[in-house]
Amino acid sequence: MLADKYDHVREQIMSACRASERAPDSVRLLAVSKTRSADEIRQLYACGPNAFGENYLQEALDKIEALQDLPLEWHFIGPIQSNKTRPIAEHFDWVHSVDRLKIAKRLSEQRPAHRAPLNICLQVNISEEASKSGCAPDELPALARAVAALPNLQLRGLMAIPEAEPDPERQRATFARVRTLLTALQAELPRLDTLSMGMSGDLDAAIAEGATIVRIGTALFGPRPSPNSTSHSPA
Ligand SMILES: *Cc1c(COP(=O)(O)O)cnc(C)c1O
Repeated sequence: MLADKYDHVREQIMSACRASERAPDSVRLLAVSKTRSADEIRQLYACGPNAFGENYLQEALDKIEALQDLPLEWHFIGPIQSNKTRPIAEHFDWVHSVDRLKIAKRLSEQRPAHRAPLNICLQVNISEEASKSGCAPDELPALARAVAALPNLQLRGLMAIPEAEPDPERQRATFARVRTLLTALQAELPRLDTLSMGMSGDLDAAIAEGATIVRIGTALFGPRPSPNSTSHSPA
């Protein structure tokens, strides 16, 4: 079951790469495992994926602990409260949802010395009316410059969660704006190499516009339980 869904997602990523003449290995799959059990992650890992994305801190820490025996890469992709940065700095490999300097400074200070620098994407609020998370596009250059200067972080690029939009052309137009923002930053910060964009409903458009990481939950694991049936607070 999981294996079939995974094969289907892999095929979709590869055909989107072919359609835009991109190398198939230029797009990484991040399996978004929020609300999924450690056992489900174990099963999916057996099919191939080794990078998992989590939104809720306590839930994530429990799974990281339970899956210590596997060589998994953990990505934090949810909202971050400044008093919860330490466990994120200690237990994750990537954070995609940094949208203010205060959070980045704390992650840098709290990153354990024995661990590689924490990979960071800045979350940009690309559909500004729809969401309160993410840095405003015009504040991005100053934030990127400041985050790139922090010692225990490696600034990798941008993350965006556009407003849900069924029309593929409009999806592409929004992702193209994210790509343009990254290109502008690369003039000053040439090591930036990551566009984290595209979810189950818009991954083709994201890949057409240069996504290097797609964050896929539903298409891999099936629909999540409705938000009302479980209670989650932001990290
Ligand atoms: C839940 C979530 C995803 C995955 O969404 P699907 O539509 O289930 O693929 C991707 N990114 C973020 C930030 C999420 O919270």
